[in-house]
Amino acid sequence: MTNRLSKAKRVVVKVGSALLVDPETGTIKAGWLASLVADIADLKAQGADVILVSSGAIALGRHSLGLPNGKLKLEQKQAAAAVGQIALAQAWAEALRTRKIVAAQILVTLADTEERRRYLNARATLSTLLAQGAVPVINENDTVATSEIRYGDNDRLGARVASMMSAEALVLLSDIDGLYSAPPGQNGATFIAELREITPDVEAMAGKPISGMGSGGMVTKIEAAKIALSAGCHMVIASGHAMHPLKRISDGERCTWFVAQASALQSRKRWIAGTLQPVGKLIVDDGAKAALGKGKSLLPAGVKFVEGEFHRGDTVSIVAGGAEFARGLVAYDAAEARAITGMKSADVQKLMGEDREDELIHRDDLVML
Ligand code: GLU
Repeated sequence: MTNRLSKAKRVVVKVGSALLVDPETGTIKAGWLASLVADIADLKAQGADVILVSSGAIALGRHSLGLPNGKLKLEQKQAAAAVGQIALAQAWAEALRTRKIVAAQILVTLADTEERRRYLNARATLSTLLAQGAVPVINENDTVATSEIRYGDNDRLGARVASMMSAEALVLLSDIDGLYSAPPGQNGATFIAELREITPDVEAMAGKPISGMGSGGMVTKIEAAKIALSAGCHMVIASGHAMHPLKRISDGERCTWFVAQASALQSRKRWIAGTLQPVGKLIVDDGAKAALGKGKSLLPAGVKFVEGEFHRGDTVSIVAGGAEFARGLVAYDAAEARAITGMKSADVQKLMGEDREDELIHRDDLVML
């Protein structure tokens, strides 16, 4: 099933430092980048949204700064990232421009993907960029984060982005073609082409980090797979060494697929229904209840009362006739929700401003119980 990639409507592609940066010269491998960008243009032409998570800032910057080879201290890495990120973003922007694609640089911290409000904002920005046809190029904002509060590797960052954006496929392009049952080359090491679950056996296969340049390795890739699979996103580990690395995956080149068992939307809804504790209640009228039953979003007009204290992004119960019948992630704080209760969308915009949501709960954030 190699067409999981060509079928996906939204794809996150993570590019490792070792692929993008020539270690000798500390410069971008421009020919390879052009071939990858051609593949990205093809995916977009087929109607897919593409999000890039690109490493390489440290690898590019350390050379310009004249830092030594080998392991760097955290502050040296951060200094290198500050220098290299400029060249990295420029390389992507130029390469994508040749295919008439607009690039957008997004530097995120761990808190941007883990903290509710920032998460919602990051998601809104990315959605807007995708709707305009741009390709976001994401990296960790390495420069000032302290070690405890950074990802440190773009494998897990890529998986969190894929989960946040409900992507259908996450591609990890690195210097290894996939997962082996033991270190490649070792006696009895067999290649694993497809997995549906991350069992302790699979984790044991991961072994130690292997790449000299990036901070990933098989361990962080398995961690990424856990995040992706629980978000209903397929993940593939593939070698990016050759030209046209995405086309090669679609053409059936050897790689390891981690196959998600549920769709992104199903997984997200399960998470909303099961994992999160509601912190407030929206009491709605029968018309709203009927509309939600037909798959519509919850508008302020259908709400009669707001109970409890909550923030934008919290889970709330939706209640009619005294019974909870749905749950969702609310787009307004409790005080704001009270202020717009019962209002028509036009009045909501007048009161809250045009940049706020029409819906109190968007249908993608809503689950019927
Ligand atoms: N954010 C780092 C960089 O751009 C790379 C992290 C990783 O190697 O995964 O250099």
